[in-house]
Amino acid sequence: MKKRTKFYALLFAMVLSLTQIIGVAVPVKAATKECSHGYTLVNGIGIRMHECGDSVCITCYHGHDKRVVIPKTFKLNGKTLPPSQFDSDNGFSENGVKEIVLPDTVESMGYWDEEDVKDGYVNDIGYHGITFYVHKGSKAEEAVKRNNPYKYLNDNSKPQPVKGTSIKRTVRIQKLAKITWKKVKCDKYEIRYSQKKNMKNAKKVNCGKNKTSLVIKKLKKNRKYYVQIRTKSGKKYSAWSKVKTIPKR
Ligand SMILES: [Zn+2]
Repeated sequence: MKKRTKFYALLFAMVLSLTQIIGVAVPVKAATKECSHGYTLVNGIGIRMHECGDSVCITCYHGHDKRVVIPKTFKLNGKTLPPSQFDSDNGFSENGVKEIVLPDTVESMGYWDEEDVKDGYVNDIGYHGITFYVHKGSKAEEAVKRNNPYKYLNDNSKPQPVKGTSIKRTVRIQKLAKITWKKVKCDKYEIRYSQKKNMKNAKKVNCGKNKTSLVIKKLKKNRKYYVQIRTKSGKKYSAWSKVKTIPKR
């Protein structure tokens, strides 16, 4: 019996190590979709490697969205690359696309001969009925401005959210409480505390950017408090952190 157990244990160990070896030797292949033209397909957008190998070309469109947002980067052959050109309107207007949002890195929409454009003769490069969305002053604006209607993306003016922080710990000793928080990049911290969870009649204390703790004094005996923190960068504040409890003493 003992011998048998030993044998099975050995067999089990062998199978286990074998699966591990196979597991290492055969990596899981990422499924790469291909379009009917033979190009790599990402969310309906066909791409190929640019001749220079440092960007991708948009070859075709196989989706059916009205608004197509071209990603800022694509993964191709293990590299993360920005799109630099469209080969042509291959499927975009045909499939009913009305709007294309271009990343700033797109610098050509399929003109092969710049001279043709300069002489006033414009190649029919397609994209009929499509409005492009570009950032003002970007390469992408240059690429579309001669032949296609375009509008500016106004997300530059969108307020960027300020990164907040969170309270790590509250320690209560009689009338004092020590609050510590996570250090983040900001101009200053604002702490508020109240006897009410909704921060009614909260007291506010500001702390410099290099501080990560604060001692609150003169708390009322036998009263629970609630505390929150936010950061300020420039003139903007982050959202308030989650409320932490300062236990009663
Ligand atoms: Zn295709």
